[in-house]
Amino acid sequence: MKKILLYIILILIIPNTILAGNLITNFSRIHAIDSQPYKIGKWIDIPQIVVCSTAPITLEGVKAAIDWWTKRGHKLNKNIIFKNKEADIICNEATPIGYITIDIGDENTLQKDTSLGTSYVSVLDPIGEIVWTRIYLKFTPNPMVLEHELGHGLGFLHYNKVGHLMHEKWAESGWSDIGLNLK
Ligand SMILES: [Zn+2]
Repeated sequence: MKKILLYIILILIIPNTILAGNLITNFSRIHAIDSQPYKIGKWIDIPQIVVCSTAPITLEGVKAAIDWWTKRGHKLNKNIIFKNKEADIICNEATPIGYITIDIGDENTLQKDTSLGTSYVSVLDPIGEIVWTRIYLKFTPNPMVLEHELGHGLGFLHYNKVGHLMHEKWAESGWSDIGLNLK
């Protein structure tokens, strides 16, 4: 059976910038008719977080983001592979299957210089199984940025309700978790 990998790119942007990406524009149409965040796929095996040596994030920051999602019923391996040799081997794989990697972004990976973070989510079509995710951060994230990107890693798209974690603009986002709870 032929499996098709869909690479989905999601970007969190800083305030007052105009969205021009085709992918985001397409997703926006979905959001307009939905009353909660749209989910593009889900993990079948529990993903493990891998933090690359160059990632601008502390272990505490990663743990806090994992806790936020596990409190809402999502399964993430709490054993973090953090900035060691094993982490960098996985970070350098073309397809880090089973993992959510976190690294520092550059102009290529972030897609836009205004992005605070970008997530690449690989989803098997048509079953919607997420097989790997790469998260790139511009710098040590503001509050909510890693939680937001991890939301993409778990399959959620943008949801532009003011105060919601998955809002595409950081300044209009917040800790609202409507539609993100599995419990
Ligand atoms: Zn985003």
